[in-house]
Amino acid sequence: MTIPVRRFDAVIVGGGGAGLRAALQLSESGLKTAVLSKVFPTRSHTVAAQGGISASLGNVQEDRWEWHMFDTVKGSDWLGDQDAIEFMCRKAPEAVIELEHFGMPFDRLENGKIYQRPFGGHTQNEGEAPVQRACAAADRTGHAMLHTLYQRNVRANTQFFIEWMALDLIRDEDGDVVGVTALEMETGEVYNFHAKGVLFATGGAGRIYAASTNAFINTGDGLGMSVRAGIPLEDMEFWQFHPTGVAGAGVLITEGVRGEGGILLNANGERFMERYAPNLKDLAPRDFVARSMEQEVLEGRGCGPNKDHVLLKLDHLGPDIIKQRLPGIREIAIKFAGVDPIKEPIPVIPTCHYMMGGIPTNYRGEVVIPKGDNPEARVNGFYAAGECACASVHGANRLGTNSLLDLVVFGKSAGDSMVEFIKNEMPTWKPLPANAGQISLDRIARLDNQTGGEEVADVRAAMQRTVQARAAVFRNSENLALGVKEIQEVAERVKRTQIKDKSKVFNTARVEALELENLIEVAVATLISADARKESRGAHAHADYQERDDEVWMKHTLYYGEDRRLTYKPVHTKPLSVEYIAPKVRTF
Ligand SMILES: Cc1cc2nc3c(=O)[nH]c(=O)nc-3n(C[C@H](O)[C@H](O)[C@H](O)COP(=O)(O)OP(=O)(O)OC[C@H]3O[C@@H](n4cnc5c(N)ncnc54)[C@H](O)[C@@H]3O)c2cc1C
Repeated sequence: MTIPVRRFDAVIVGGGGAGLRAALQLSESGLKTAVLSKVFPTRSHTVAAQGGISASLGNVQEDRWEWHMFDTVKGSDWLGDQDAIEFMCRKAPEAVIELEHFGMPFDRLENGKIYQRPFGGHTQNEGEAPVQRACAAADRTGHAMLHTLYQRNVRANTQFFIEWMALDLIRDEDGDVVGVTALEMETGEVYNFHAKGVLFATGGAGRIYAASTNAFINTGDGLGMSVRAGIPLEDMEFWQFHPTGVAGAGVLITEGVRGEGGILLNANGERFMERYAPNLKDLAPRDFVARSMEQEVLEGRGCGPNKDHVLLKLDHLGPDIIKQRLPGIREIAIKFAGVDPIKEPIPVIPTCHYMMGGIPTNYRGEVVIPKGDNPEARVNGFYAAGECACASVHGANRLGTNSLLDLVVFGKSAGDSMVEFIKNEMPTWKPLPANAGQISLDRIARLDNQTGGEEVADVRAAMQRTVQARAAVFRNSENLALGVKEIQEVAERVKRTQIKDKSKVFNTARVEALELENLIEVAVATLISADARKESRGAHAHADYQERDDEVWMKHTLYYGEDRRLTYKPVHTKPLSVEYIAPKVRTF
């Protein structure tokens, strides 16, 4: 069967912040650029970002990009690549001012400059005092950013394919990427998108956990497609638990609440973060706060009838600040927790929030994999940016507000790299291989023909239960070993999923079955990578190996799907222009 072909200079999979920023760079340079998205671009998860985007603008008090860089390296627990971190922190002020000039409606200070609030782990002068570095549009910063970027792309004539799901990467016999296959959801037809360069900006995969702040569409499709095409995944053991998900509901309460002065309380009404982090208190980095909260619950100081959560108190900020700076949070608390934070505290619990790992890239957004002696050889024609990519700026733990920054800085830089590659190295398209798209047709045919199989929802729930139980905030050898075994059993069940509805038009059951095939790759990678790392670093808190071990483990994990094996590659210890920031013990 011949598959219809669409041809573009550049194809971008993902219409969130990273995809749209990259697309803008390509379209504005005159290249024919397509953006594919499962949902209307402005419904991508970036729209849900609340708290802010970091940049050392120094609008409220003195700040420097070097301090931002230090905080990010320390926040990453020295797993972040220092060249990429320097690149991002140096570019941050320029990136935020560019967004402002694009028309993004930031909140303002009295003097007209962009409003900035404090956020966890962002400090002045090497960890001394919190600094106001997060630029915000109330508690709807991502919403403002995504709409701004979408409008710029409409102006630049980016071509959107909305409700199209990319299924598989197309690599030719040299291993170069020459396109993707995609399903038009409206018709159920599969197309080959032939391109000189492909960028993945497919976002996170928080849906591998049972409790997550992530949207339902965050199913790690870019990672699944990469694994199936032989590309390894980096640092998949590192998942961020956000300290303040609404207990029971999982919906996020931004760290900006604590940035504005909100505090965490245990059942005794004690502000317990003062004990764990005497300097930064409630604004210590997320891995630190999440563990402290779990510790309080484990030691019997949790709140509520089951003593299973803590409280986030903000009534002392007064109704004006809450209504002006945190209106979305108030709405969420009323709807999902049944409390009005103007009067009562919000019940909160650490909830899966962000994937630090992903598709390995350098700070130019080029996907890089080991080849011969080179741990980072470029895969021609393949780029990644945003949450699905691992640049790696966040290392073992991301600082709040550094993701929105990552999207625009690396989206732009990946876009620039693609423009350069397409203009200098790709005068014309490399041919599509003869069997291009076959793997996708086979996957769909398998689903259509499967009989006596498993329900997608049951298998997905089994996966989520396993990951939640075996790879949460605190981990240990026994649990991780069990998790590796259990998740591979679930992976076998994914091969036998079945859908009852075989129709073609807007068949969401088929889409969910295909998404599960991506989620499971992410879940298996997570457990195998986590089980192997015998130390505690950032978000990977291992009860049997409680110390960070820089001697052995200051290295990035690479997971390969074919035989589920791991290799490792060095952390980049050479920044671009400044001195190396040597490891220290992390205290706050
Ligand atoms: C509730 C919440 C609040 C947050 N708040 C903040 C904050 O205040 N500050 C901060 O820095 N970070 C925050 N984060 C993190 C940050 O928002 C995300 O990491 C970031 O927005 C991810 O952007 P992205 O462009 O990589 O992907 P997304 O915005 O998730 O977009 C992914 C895109 O890929 C598309 N896609 C996926 N798979 C396919 C496929 N197979 N085919 C076609 N299209 C596909 C989707 O349709 C979508 O358009 C928050 C995250 C959450 C969940």
